[in-house]
Amino acid sequence: MTFATLGLIDPLLRALETLGYQTPTPVQAQAIPAVLGGRDLMAAAQTGTGKTAGFALPLLQLLAMEGPKVTANSVRALILVPTRELAEQVHEAVRQYAENLPLRTYAVYGGVSINPQMMKLRGGVDLLVATPGRLLDLFRQNALKFNQLQTLVLDEADRMLDLGFSEELANIYRALPKKRQTLLFSATFSDDIRLLAGQMLNDPLSIEVSPRNVAANTVKQWVVTVDKKRKPELFSHLLRKNRWKQVLVFAKTRNGVDALVERLQGQGVNADGIHGDKPQATRQRALDRFKASEIQILVATDVAARGLDIEDLPLVVNFDLPIVAEDYIHRIGRTGRAGSTGEAISLVCADEVNLLSAIEMLTRQTLKRHDEPDFIPEHRVPETDASGQVIKKPKKPKKPKTSGGGGKRNLGKWVDSGEVAEAPAVKPVRKVPVFNTGPRKRKP
Ligand code: AMP
Repeated sequence: MTFATLGLIDPLLRALETLGYQTPTPVQAQAIPAVLGGRDLMAAAQTGTGKTAGFALPLLQLLAMEGPKVTANSVRALILVPTRELAEQVHEAVRQYAENLPLRTYAVYGGVSINPQMMKLRGGVDLLVATPGRLLDLFRQNALKFNQLQTLVLDEADRMLDLGFSEELANIYRALPKKRQTLLFSATFSDDIRLLAGQMLNDPLSIEVSPRNVAANTVKQWVVTVDKKRKPELFSHLLRKNRWKQVLVFAKTRNGVDALVERLQGQGVNADGIHGDKPQATRQRALDRFKASEIQILVATDVAARGLDIEDLPLVVNFDLPIVAEDYIHRIGRTGRAGSTGEAISLVCADEVNLLSAIEMLTRQTLKRHDEPDFIPEHRVPETDASGQVIKKPKKPKKPKTSGGGGKRNLGKWVDSGEVAEAPAVKPVRKVPVFNTGPRKRKP
């Protein structure tokens, strides 16, 4: 199968040739003809499957071949994405695909001045990529009109709900013309997403290119168990030992990102961090430098790293496990993209056993464990498996203390510290109605 047999027009085929795309990926093979045929779409596709081209190519073709010329402040196609970085990335892909078409494309997102965006929108835009909050701001300030809107794309819809954008989505939805084509893409499909799909889509074609909630099988995944306080030391050790070249590291909190970056920089490692507290320009610069291999280690929180497309990224390290198991799939989706192989290593401490168990249940696999000599945890991580069982070993009677017993560490022994029992419960997948009016969650 070729892109030509899918019905794409010559200007798009030429752009794809320049980009070196030869064969459509499975999601593209299914989505492109359906979108060209005007169908609504509900697609379960992981990041790295080529989903962006799956919706952008037919969308650009429809815009080029059909519909009126765009008028002032209007937009003909809208792609909603959860984060600023993803907005930039999707827009960059769109720009490349539309290289030979007379279409105006643009991206708007928060964290940067709104005025230049308002100016740019004055002339009208054929295809706009936007984050929900900024889009609403622009709409409320009359910088945007939706009367010409023919297609809406919700990209990474699950993430938009996770980030608390349901209210914004409901408001946007109310402002859009009822007659339109809607495409919904999501790596994972929760009940909330299905509810959203039921409200927004009209007789959609369902596409599922990989089994539901199963992580990319091109990614070799394993776990190293370690005591919480020794994670930074273990990371530096693995970095040196394995001579890692380029690593994307996920930490749970902004402070965690900063602390690890500081430590690595202190050791002379070329590292930088991105998280929601950093200005957009700084985040983008760090990302660009990482993509250009000018930075060896990029440490990020989930929000900042969502959807990033970094070519041939060999390795993702979960310095902390994600609180929401689905984020694990998104994180490791940064590697092993578009058919290449990758590796994802998780540093797991006893506190995180429930999170590990939730990930194994979701991905329907027991992650292989690897013991790193010298880092065998004092607080052993109980065995887990894909059934969701956490197998706690019985307490061993404490040995009487001997004098001069040496170091504090109890290498290789099972020590019941009570920490496991205190491990935080796995945060349930949100079950609130899609269009709730509750407060927005803080972004990590
Ligand atoms: P996505 O899942 O849309 O983020 O795409 C992942 C990566 O695959 C991007 O770097 C795309 O440029 C690349 N890609 C998408 N479709 C193809 C294709 N048909 N052939 C080769 N590379 C592709």
